[in-house]
Amino acid sequence: MSLRPTVDFLLHDWLNVESLQSRERFADHSRETFDAVLDTCERIAREKYAPFNRLVDTQEPHFDGDKVILPQATHEAYKAYAESGMLSAAQDYEIGGMQLPYTVEAAANAFFAMASVSIGSGMLTSGNANLLMVHGTDLQKKVFAANEFSGRFSGTMCLSEPQAGSSLSDVMTRATPDGEGFESDALGPRYRLKGNKMWISSGEHELSENIIHLVLAKIPDANGQLVPGVKGISLFIVPKKLVDTQGQLTGERNDVALAGLNHKCGWRGTTNTLLNFGEGKYPVRGEAGAVGYLVGKPGEGLRCMFHMMNEARIGVGMAATMLGMAGYYASLDYAKNRPQGRPTGAGGKDASQPQVRIIEHADIKRMLLAQKAYSEGALALALYCARLVDEQHTGTAEDADVARLLLEVLTPIAKSFPSEWCLEANSLAIQIHGGYGYTRDFPVEQYWRDNRLNMIHEGTHGIQAMDLLGRKVLMENGRGLKLLAERMLATAAKAETAWAPEAAALRDAMKQVGQATQEAWAGAEPAQALANAVPYLQAFGHTVIAWIWLDVACSAASDDSPAAQGRRAACRYFYRYELPKIGAWLNVVSSRDPTCADLPEEAF
Ligand SMILES: Cc1cc2nc3c(=O)[nH]c(=O)nc-3n(C[C@H](O)[C@H](O)[C@H](O)COP(=O)(O)OP(=O)(O)OC[C@H]3O[C@@H](n4cnc5c(N)ncnc54)[C@H](O)[C@@H]3O)c2cc1C
Repeated sequence: MSLRPTVDFLLHDWLNVESLQSRERFADHSRETFDAVLDTCERIAREKYAPFNRLVDTQEPHFDGDKVILPQATHEAYKAYAESGMLSAAQDYEIGGMQLPYTVEAAANAFFAMASVSIGSGMLTSGNANLLMVHGTDLQKKVFAANEFSGRFSGTMCLSEPQAGSSLSDVMTRATPDGEGFESDALGPRYRLKGNKMWISSGEHELSENIIHLVLAKIPDANGQLVPGVKGISLFIVPKKLVDTQGQLTGERNDVALAGLNHKCGWRGTTNTLLNFGEGKYPVRGEAGAVGYLVGKPGEGLRCMFHMMNEARIGVGMAATMLGMAGYYASLDYAKNRPQGRPTGAGGKDASQPQVRIIEHADIKRMLLAQKAYSEGALALALYCARLVDEQHTGTAEDADVARLLLEVLTPIAKSFPSEWCLEANSLAIQIHGGYGYTRDFPVEQYWRDNRLNMIHEGTHGIQAMDLLGRKVLMENGRGLKLLAERMLATAAKAETAWAPEAAALRDAMKQVGQATQEAWAGAEPAQALANAVPYLQAFGHTVIAWIWLDVACSAASDDSPAAQGRRAACRYFYRYELPKIGAWLNVVSSRDPTCADLPEEAF
């Protein structure tokens, strides 16, 4: 079983990605160029990532007092990825990019996430550089972004602080003007930053010549006070090593110091750091304070950062998806080879017969089909979202606007559905392995540990849920939700003949979600509406994946291959075993059930 036929089916038979060639930006591309990118990524992932996934889990990053040491395999994977050109795949030809559609880029990156999610494929680096391409000055693009695209520098995003995780309005890192003439520095208005950033992925290592931190910090007002709320947040480029206007290292270290490495449950191949900015460990020109260059305008830091966060959320969803897929393939292989038990016939079990392989048991098939339905459904959604990103960038003004709004509504699902349900898929993969799955002799326990992170970072599950119910479905008078409903209805109409019960179930689920959305907001208190935001997210996510599966099944309708049979079965599974769950989730939303919210602390 390999991932490639599934990716090919989704890209070509379902999303018709070749149609993008008619856009001027992608005119040089063809099925051949798309295939070449996928072939290269599949090969690098197979040769440089997959064989070392366990190694990077057991040889965690460590600090020798001077440097963070990572296994040699990580250095080689980093180099191979950078040399493949994938860091700048979607960028213009003039800056060395391939002008590749994001849909193909996302599909190609899926191979790395499945082979070794924690070796990583530069999501932070390209996300960091992409942000600078939108919000940076020409020189910031040339000095920082271009060197990130080539792999010479790598990137981070520094939002979280020990006391400010979900609540970014409480960040306390301060940025003060760096002396006279601070505004006229060629690299951008120059500030000195002081503060602590917690949980920073890839915050310290020797993989690249320099690390470009994008840091959220507050500029104090005239009284030296930090402005409360997100309006006070600005964004700064803080390089680990200072550079000149040509992007060359000046030889001076910036005042950014590693305070410690976090030792994690999973995703151990990526360093995770507590960084001290401006504590004076590496004074610059005799003074404590990390030198940072303002990006965009003061007070617009979070808005700029969202550019990176939205991409990162789809990327996190894809990572969770591919971990789910990796567990599915591993447990499928195991189930085909493990003999255990005998079938129950009319006269009971016949112990004189040889044991059967566990894939012959209905309960194992149930667990395999659940994994397939969660993971392939989530992959299809991720690629659908990626296709919307291409529409947003290259479609007509009207289509681009529709794509933008659909992405607003679907991004919390693209991040959260796989984080929850592909984690569940990994749990089922362990279950299929029996006791062996619980040991380190098989890869599935690592997939589960790696996947457990995804419900936490890039906005926790709870925060995504409140974003969906509290903002996304309401924005622009609910237009995003209406646009999504139109697409779902179009799928139901297309499915009417071959998939009548599923088409009816989808319409019914949409009605239930629509009604619950209204009833959640029918009371006067936003707190009541949002108290059950997570069950709402779960029901919404299941309805979205049901829609995606029905659409995929329509494309697999006339094909008798085992792969198409499997897709149709996964669709049926989702409608019969999963979609009915939404009733229970939506009940508490509609009634604004106060069971959890009203319980006094002492009663716990
Ligand atoms: C391995 C790892 C890598 C990371 N990488 C990065 C990185 O590169 N850059 C970066 O900036 N950050 C990074 N993070 C930080 C991550 O984004 C935060 O952990 C996350 O935002 C949650 O913040 P917190 O840990 O402070 O938890 P808290 O915000 O304290 O949340 C704890 C719990 O309370 C809930 N909660 C919080 N507020 C509310 C509310 N208002 N209503 C209801 N429930 C609420 C949350 O949903 C959560 O379940 C990383 C984290 C980890 C674990």
